[in-house]
Amino acid sequence: MSDPSLDPAQIRAELQTKREELRAQITDLTRPPEGGATIGFGKRIGEGTTQAIQQMADVSTAQTLAGVLDQVERSLTKLDEGSYGQCDVCQGPIGEARLEFRPWSVRCVEHADG
Ligand SMILES: [Zn+2]
Repeated sequence: MSDPSLDPAQIRAELQTKREELRAQITDLTRPPEGGATIGFGKRIGEGTTQAIQQMADVSTAQTLAGVLDQVERSLTKLDEGSYGQCDVCQGPIGEARLEFRPWSVRCVEHADG
């Protein structure tokens, strides 16, 4: 890593903060709903359906966040390996602008899968 504007210690701290945020969000989204036992107790039918749809949306969001978490973990490994900033597919540069926007990028624009 020859670019002096990329400070590994700062990037590591940023990634670790992001990792904690993601873990907290995922935990929150996948937590069973409170008071679930009240469904069917004087509630309208629609409420249970809405809750089920909301849960499905939460699971979907949690899966997306888990994907980002994977990339954050991989980026931290890449910092250790000294390959941070290099695409995991072609070993080419990921690009500073891209890393600034998403410090957990592990692939270049060409090989990004999302
Ligand atoms: Zn690539």
